[in-house]
Amino acid sequence: MIIIVGAGIFGATAALSLCKRGQKVTLVDSGPLPRPNLLAASVDSSRAVRSEYGDDLFYVDLAKQAIEIWREEWNLRWGERLYEQAGMLLASSQPLEVESFESHCYASVLKRKEAVERMQPSTLAQRFPQWSADAWVDGYFNPAAGFAKAERSLVLLLAEARAAGVEMKGECTMAELLMIGDRVEGVRCSNGREFHGDLVLLATGAWSPNLHPALRPVLEPSAQTLVYFKPADPRPYAADRFPFWAWDIARLGWYGFPASEDGLVKVGHHGSGRKLAVDCRDPDPRVEPELRSFLATVLPGLAAAPTIATKVCFYTDSIDGDFWIGAVPGQAGLFVATGGSGHAFKFAPVLGDIIANAVEGVSDPRLARFAWREPESGAGEQARAGLPGGR
Ligand SMILES: Cc1cc2nc3c(=O)[nH]c(=O)nc-3n(C[C@H](O)[C@H](O)[C@H](O)COP(=O)(O)OP(=O)(O)OC[C@H]3O[C@@H](n4cnc5c(N)ncnc54)[C@H](O)[C@@H]3O)c2cc1C
Repeated sequence: MIIIVGAGIFGATAALSLCKRGQKVTLVDSGPLPRPNLLAASVDSSRAVRSEYGDDLFYVDLAKQAIEIWREEWNLRWGERLYEQAGMLLASSQPLEVESFESHCYASVLKRKEAVERMQPSTLAQRFPQWSADAWVDGYFNPAAGFAKAERSLVLLLAEARAAGVEMKGECTMAELLMIGDRVEGVRCSNGREFHGDLVLLATGAWSPNLHPALRPVLEPSAQTLVYFKPADPRPYAADRFPFWAWDIARLGWYGFPASEDGLVKVGHHGSGRKLAVDCRDPDPRVEPELRSFLATVLPGLAAAPTIATKVCFYTDSIDGDFWIGAVPGQAGLFVATGGSGHAFKFAPVLGDIIANAVEGVSDPRLARFAWREPESGAGEQARAGLPGGR
């Protein structure tokens, strides 16, 4: 029996993969399973799905694999489209000939033969007139990228996991690990319930450092503010004419999505965020005024649209921007799968197998990047430096 604590995208995909491999799995979450916890980072209207990762070809290739599964398998599997291939517009404040995160992205997508379209102000004005061509310096459009309907994907994955035989224990907040000697053998929840198993996998996202002291030096939650606008006419922002975008992301940090089905246009700020307690969801008051002044220059039609909501969501930043998947050293029976660092959701189609391989001890070269490492490693710095995610 494997006890998985946390039913966000890490825990849900791991539960499904392990169950399909014949393991008995119990999934425990504070939320009302099989419905997700609305405070989970995996719960939102959309998450960007793109292979722009500077010149870090490990993530470029992993993202391309995931995108293919989103498009060719997951969009058919549940009879509804979870991945919208709206494309991605990557804007750079300097020419792509100058070395930058964006120029590395451009070189990588060309290396991988993506059919991207370099944009000049004149082509931008023609193709995407919502943007101010005067503010455009350089960049490109990648038609293979898009976004996933995040909350809906998680709801369907959890329903499938339950149907496949995963036992769901909702409204149970893990308070402590249960031990026999040095070995972890289960969890005790704050409501007194206990779950016993052969091993425990913590997939508790931004809550993880609170749950195990070994995680504190290597994972840090950071609060990120999102703003949802409601333009009077959402049609110019529909996914068939307005792609996911990132504007000089490594320097300015702004990115956004096409209008959702209810006409809301979401814009986020990607950066180091704020160090708040993970249950504090107060939006950063600086974000909206700064965002409106940015929009007035680059996306003027949206600058005056009313705000319908703001939301705080937590990245779980690892020390190097790589995910954290594997055994916890010196703690027999305990595994961890977290450290999304603001960029894990897109990998949902491949994440479950990677985690299951870690738990079952199946050799997987991808795990070299994610296994437990000491704080001085700096392997995934580029993942952090770039887009949402990636700091
Ligand atoms: C603002 C923002 C923008 C992002 N943008 C992108 C993007 O564009 N593209 C992309 O690919 N990724 C993006 N990400 C990252 C991605 O959403 C996360 O990496 C991913 O969703 C994290 O999943 P998780 O399973 O680790 O955590 P979560 O989804 O937070 O799940 C953790 C679960 O653990 C449960 N839990 C916690 N503590 C306990 C406990 N003690 N007992 C029981 N249950 C517990 C919680 O209830 C929760 O359900 C973004 C994240 C944020 C915050």
